[in-house]
Amino acid sequence: MSSAETDVAVVGLGAWGAAALWRLATEGVDVVGVEQYTPGHPHGSSHGGSRMFRTACLEHPGLVPLARRSGELWSELSRVSGRRLVEPTGGLLVGPAGGHVVTGTLAAAKRFDLPVETLDAARIRARYPGHETVPDGHVAVLERTAALVRPEETIRAAVDTATSRGARVLTGTAVHEIVLDDDGVLVRLAGHDLRARQVVVTAGPWLAELVPGLPAVAVRMPMTWFAPSDPDRFSLDRFPVFIRELDSGVAVWGHGLGADLGPVGEVKLGLEDGGSAFAEVQASGVDRSVGEADWRTLTALLPGAVPGLGAAPTRAAVCMITRTPDGQFLLGRPGRDPRLVVGGGCSGHGFKHALGIGEVLADTVLGREPRHDLGFTDPNRFG
Ligand SMILES: Cc1cc2nc3c(=O)[nH]c(=O)nc-3n(C[C@H](O)[C@H](O)[C@H](O)COP(=O)(O)OP(=O)(O)OC[C@H]3O[C@@H](n4cnc5c(N)ncnc54)[C@H](O)[C@@H]3O)c2cc1C
Repeated sequence: MSSAETDVAVVGLGAWGAAALWRLATEGVDVVGVEQYTPGHPHGSSHGGSRMFRTACLEHPGLVPLARRSGELWSELSRVSGRRLVEPTGGLLVGPAGGHVVTGTLAAAKRFDLPVETLDAARIRARYPGHETVPDGHVAVLERTAALVRPEETIRAAVDTATSRGARVLTGTAVHEIVLDDDGVLVRLAGHDLRARQVVVTAGPWLAELVPGLPAVAVRMPMTWFAPSDPDRFSLDRFPVFIRELDSGVAVWGHGLGADLGPVGEVKLGLEDGGSAFAEVQASGVDRSVGEADWRTLTALLPGAVPGLGAAPTRAAVCMITRTPDGQFLLGRPGRDPRLVVGGGCSGHGFKHALGIGEVLADTVLGREPRHDLGFTDPNRFG
């Protein structure tokens, strides 16, 4: 069996791996990226045309600096790649004043003095007719810097830019096993091996299949698109990116229709996982067919929450997230092993951080001091 060599192998070129490849290549590191499909494919966690970008991170206030750094890196990647990767929209985080969406967002904004505006229910209903059913007592936090980011284009831009800076990329190449041995790392591929000093494993929902023992579980999560009867009510400026918590605690997320965000005339919606809403699966064997069971819970909520969108979606697709026990990421060296770095456990809120995470993973490979205080993402925190 033949064997190629590199300093660093990045396994998995989805959002986080593509970003790591880009940052490592930008640092002049000899790096090879290995991807089982092609960058920007629709089989993992990073497809469907759009993702929400926010900096007031309700999931953990400590993520704010990472999100802000990701925003800067999105500007850089857009500039160097010459591609349009970000669509500014502003974002609404809506719900009961004491609910997890509003309190989490305000806590993050307060800790980092982020410029957000709070709207009462009457102002939400007047300004955003798609949210006309928001009841009194609910509020919205408006983050003007929130945006839509394009996942597939971002991944391709990062991989292409990395390649132009010397990274080598193997696509259509599945990694069968990662062996840590006395000489570093052996990345086993079909027909040949790749020998590296270090490996960065950014395999998304496949992470635990490649690095057994990590507390990361793949979860099947559908996305749905709807055709509104009155498209004007749901234009991106009147129905910008949002997460809306209902009185039950269930949260709906989505955004309105924009120029080139999927087929014309579709509003994208989904349900927050919340740690238990969707089924745990084996990523390699996930059922990719979609049917009524995938949107029943959401469509039952829509007449009371977001009326005017029809009884069933016009389109649906399967996506996956990777759940961890505490809903936070896994970034760092499991077992403090100097040969292994992991980036995974996205828990459904990781796209906005992708470029910053790529930089954090590159820093870890290079042995640099952490630039953000991300101890709560240490993969060894579960003991
Ligand atoms: C429906 C939905 C909506 C979401 N909305 C948002 C949002 O609005 N904002 C936000 O911030 N986040 C959001 N997320 C979460 C976000 O999309 C993910 O956190 C992010 O895409 C994770 O990227 P990743 O690189 O970890 O995984 P992936 O993109 O899945 O990348 C993993 C890669 O590894 C490759 N790979 C795996 N195993 C192997 C192997 N053995 N050999 C070679 N290659 C391999 C895979 O093919 C894949 O390309 C959403 C997720 C879903 C599912």
